[in-house]
Amino acid sequence: MQLKLYNSLTGEKEIFKPILEGNVGMYVCGPTVYSNVHLGNVRTFLSFDFIYRTLMHLGYKVRYVRNITDAGHLTDDGNVDNDRFVKQTRLEKLEPMEIVQKYTVDFHKVLEMFNLLPPNIEPTATGHIVEQIELTQKLIERGFAYESNGSVYFDVLEYNKRGLNYGELSKRNIEELFANTRDLDGQGEKKNPQDFALWKKASPAHIMRWNSPWGEGFPGWHLECTAMSTKYLGEKFDIHGGGMDLKFPHHECEIAQGKACNDTAPVNYWLHANMLTMNSQRMSKSTGNYILPMQLVTGENDFFEKSFHPSIVRFCFLQAHYRSVLDISNDAMIASEKGFIRLMEAVKVLNSVTPDNGRQSEFNLNEWKNKCYDALNDDFNSPILIAHLFEAVKYIFALNEGKETISTEDFEDLKSTLHAFIFDVLGLQNIEENNNEKLDQTLKVLIELRNQARKSKNFDLSDQIRDKLLAEGIELKDGRDGTTYVLN
Ligand code: AMP
Ligand code: ZN
Repeated sequence: MQLKLYNSLTGEKEIFKPILEGNVGMYVCGPTVYSNVHLGNVRTFLSFDFIYRTLMHLGYKVRYVRNITDAGHLTDDGNVDNDRFVKQTRLEKLEPMEIVQKYTVDFHKVLEMFNLLPPNIEPTATGHIVEQIELTQKLIERGFAYESNGSVYFDVLEYNKRGLNYGELSKRNIEELFANTRDLDGQGEKKNPQDFALWKKASPAHIMRWNSPWGEGFPGWHLECTAMSTKYLGEKFDIHGGGMDLKFPHHECEIAQGKACNDTAPVNYWLHANMLTMNSQRMSKSTGNYILPMQLVTGENDFFEKSFHPSIVRFCFLQAHYRSVLDISNDAMIASEKGFIRLMEAVKVLNSVTPDNGRQSEFNLNEWKNKCYDALNDDFNSPILIAHLFEAVKYIFALNEGKETISTEDFEDLKSTLHAFIFDVLGLQNIEENNNEKLDQTLKVLIELRNQARKSKNFDLSDQIRDKLLAEGIELKDGRDGTTYVLN
């Protein structure tokens, strides 16, 4: 079985050939951390988490790099991001780096809640200013960039004159691009409207600024990803991912920068994840059609009639292929919840099945496994994998009812394969087990607090803790080795 993936650059499904056999270098554009991530952002990161998990499950050694776009660029054209950033620092009365820290912490918490694995390297844009200045210098030396009034721009026309093809990823024609754009930015600094900033002169209002050979300024957005991907994965690496909306201009510019610097295309396979919509409208902060991940999990929102566990949200997302648009709605979430519960019930029921080596089963385990792997190998097709998992679920319930049979060998194989697909590859979590663990931790904290109250002779409080827990059906038992609890 060979892994095939859809390469946005060629528009075709291709057999995946890593540069170094058995190894994968993967870069995914990370979040901009000046506000909370919305559920749409989460979908993109979750899609790549599934891809990362699948690659590892298929036996690849992966170096996964996902950056944090902190205050580094915060404006590319038109200073829009900077304006919002300035507003946010004023509104929250915080230092720029406090804003960055606050939303980076929030981002990590949210992804952890949905059981995303951390990348191997998570570089920040502001931590790589030196590399960005060096790249800008190299592009000037090679004749692909020019300085103008303290800013440096990439010369798109020069790039094309040398036979390179700006627009190859987004399939845009440069002449048409020139004809259709007005120069809204740059105050005549650029030679051509399509030229993009590698380095921008900082206006007095710009809060994040660094010294450079061209005066005080800040790096362009597209350059940060080229700097960080090159540093950690090399001039040419296997996979670059991001949301569909980043194809142009961001990824187009990354290709141009890479080729102009190193005479080679920086990436072999471009993967783009599709958007999340809610009630058929694209999720986005600017239109107001968005929901924060926590609001879906706590149920505090106007869109859904109940709360949903993060693992159910994860399951819902994976029921769509990463290249398809996914629409979430109340009905879609309720349907996912039902499916999720049935899947987890099958995992539980399988534990109590007794194998029987005497009878022949209708269910061909090897065939089923091959179909599951075919789905994974076919451009990470999670909905097809899930459909196959439900064939196994049907079989497991038939086993439980004594209508089907399984040999000891197949039993062990089915159990470990099912666990690997559900927990390692799809990254789902068993809600029941998780709740028990949480309850156990909570009760240990309460026992510790009660012990402290007793030590400080606050018997009123220690008795209250014991009695209130008892009223909830939780009995504390004091023994020689400490306090334990019994659930009645
Ligand atoms: P940002 O923090 O705005 O740079 O976005 C982080 C990532 O979220 C990017 O890869 C975007 O493509 C992605 N993204 C933004 N909106 C959506 C959406 N509605 N659905 C899926 N991904 C999105
Ligand atoms: Zn990027």
